[in-house]
Amino acid sequence: MTRRRLIAGTWKMNGGLADSRALVHAICHGIGARTASEVMVCPPFPLLGTVSEMVDGTAVRLGAQDCHPADAGAHTGDVSAVLLAELGCSSVIVGHSERRADHGESNALVRDKAAAAHRAGLTAVLCVGETLEQRDGGHTAEVVVGQVDGSLPDGWSAQNTVIAYEPVWAIGTGRTPEVGDIAAVHAEIRDALRARSGATVAEASRILYGGSVKAGNAVDIMAIDQVDGALVGGASLDAKEFLAIIGAA
Ligand code: PEP
Repeated sequence: MTRRRLIAGTWKMNGGLADSRALVHAICHGIGARTASEVMVCPPFPLLGTVSEMVDGTAVRLGAQDCHPADAGAHTGDVSAVLLAELGCSSVIVGHSERRADHGESNALVRDKAAAAHRAGLTAVLCVGETLEQRDGGHTAEVVVGQVDGSLPDGWSAQNTVIAYEPVWAIGTGRTPEVGDIAAVHAEIRDALRARSGATVAEASRILYGGSVKAGNAVDIMAIDQVDGALVGGASLDAKEFLAIIGAA
């Protein structure tokens, strides 16, 4: 089973208008018309329209960092998956650990957001990962599989969903798990997908690794059998670093 790799950069709450334009320009220019891997950038909401116009007709795809579970309504400050699709997004991140922590997002809410993404025709990039305390307590597999089970909506498929394994303690810290640990957690996730939806769907599903991926460690991480790409935070704000990660994939 060949799974096309995905390298997705999430800018989080970073980037102004001018530096974002320069970053997108450098990425588009750097990868040229085609890439072996799928490449995506996920800017903050207000930049989506601008970046959408810039990536139109290039090999770079557009994603958003979150969506509301409803399609429309009285939800001040929120953004629907329907609008994201209209703006040119192909994907939306749901369940990022910073949303789970900062906004108390539960598995049930994340599941409803993923379902909203699917209704709008978007791919949900569903994030899961353990805290340091959970890892030190030997609960990594239990936590991660529990998040996958609890956050995957009915109707998910290998086409409309990508899982991103992101150990919370590795995000933005410069620390990464041993390659063997990443491989083991990815295998646990794929087993959970198999148990949920069968071997064909599980084998076709992409599972990304995220957490302090940089140019310097990308080759080793991408060489792990079960890793189908990366969700990149900090390093995606630097075109040279991001292009090097894309090159490693
Ligand atoms: C992230 O925010 O999903 C992430 C992986 O961040 P960083 O690459 O900075 O660790």
